[in-house]
Amino acid sequence: MTTFTCALNPARIVFGAGKRSAVASELDRLGVTRALVLSTPFQKADAEALAAELGALAAGVFAHAAMHTPVEVTQTAMAAYAAAGADGVVALGGGSTIGLGKAIAYRNDCPQLVVATTYAGSEVTPILGQTENGVKTTVRAGSILPETVIYDPDLTLGLPVGMSVTSGLNAMAHAVEGVYAQDRNPIAAMMAVEGVRALRDALPAIVRTPADAAARGAALYGAWLCGTVLGSVGMALHHKLCHTLGGSFDLPHAETHSVMLPHTAAYNAGAAKTALQPLADLFGGDLGAGLWQFAKDLGAPMSLRDLGLEETDLDRAADLAVQNPYWNPRPVERDAIRALLGRAWEGVPPESGT
Ligand code: NAD
Repeated sequence: MTTFTCALNPARIVFGAGKRSAVASELDRLGVTRALVLSTPFQKADAEALAAELGALAAGVFAHAAMHTPVEVTQTAMAAYAAAGADGVVALGGGSTIGLGKAIAYRNDCPQLVVATTYAGSEVTPILGQTENGVKTTVRAGSILPETVIYDPDLTLGLPVGMSVTSGLNAMAHAVEGVYAQDRNPIAAMMAVEGVRALRDALPAIVRTPADAAARGAALYGAWLCGTVLGSVGMALHHKLCHTLGGSFDLPHAETHSVMLPHTAAYNAGAAKTALQPLADLFGGDLGAGLWQFAKDLGAPMSLRDLGLEETDLDRAADLAVQNPYWNPRPVERDAIRALLGRAWEGVPPESGT
């Protein structure tokens, strides 16, 4: 590549085992004196423990974050934020909790500190997806990007193995699409390859020993890199298909990415051969086939059928996926996409990428 524009997002990253203890000093650095601590109901006890450690720096806990950032939840959280006299938020969790923090900051421009506990990558993007009356819309703005992210692998030791695998494959999907993005650049490409390498090595070790501290650290490091790629360059066919399947058929986020990635990588393998070569090399030379076997060996869900999609939905999914397509290195053709979806639905290996 001889021509590129590279704009990296200005976030402060604090990484390391035990770094959860840096929340107070990092809030101080942001000038926050009363932070509302956010979580899902599932991570409420962790959020309350963090608030207790923060003492007067915590304005309270709001533990109602939900998948796809429903606007009604955001409105309730805004009321809780005002009632508590908060001047910033701490989001403790994965993409759902981080989405709520972003939604609050989008509305009042408050400082956000994220303690990220999955591999989804939302913490390093200026992108917010929110749902209102069943419709999901996406916005991008400077106020949405969290100012500070703390990655503490200790907080991921208990991330269930199944979720670790699908969340890790979700992270890899950002990197795969990042290397062939229309606005790709050499820094994003380097981060993508290093991120996928780290996750390729870490995920099998986590499946063998879920509390393997070194593997957890490596996976979170890889997730940070892959998420940074997502925040830096545009995504293509894979993300469009996953958004369609999630938005119109209510399929689960990380699992859908996990099933689709080998198929979309194979679809683009020929058209983006040079860009994808360093990633293909990490999986034995054929990226689609290599990723499919990798996911299978990890025990990941392998078919859209298992995620609850009906076979009769495939035609509509293909029609929706080719409407307003994202830029993609290979033309997005309806019949080829229908064939790809059919293979993903059945759970068979992808077409050999040429
Ligand atoms: P999630 O945040 O929905 O988490 C799933 C469940 O796991 C929740 O109950 C959560 O509390 C729990 N959990 C999280 N970390 C845990 C841990 N370490 N131990 C035990 N339980 C834990 O899942 P996700 O995949 O991180 O996020 C998915 C959402 O994020 C989707 O809505 C997706 O659209 C969004 N997302 C947005 C972006 C973006 O850039 N805007 C990027 C990626 C994902």
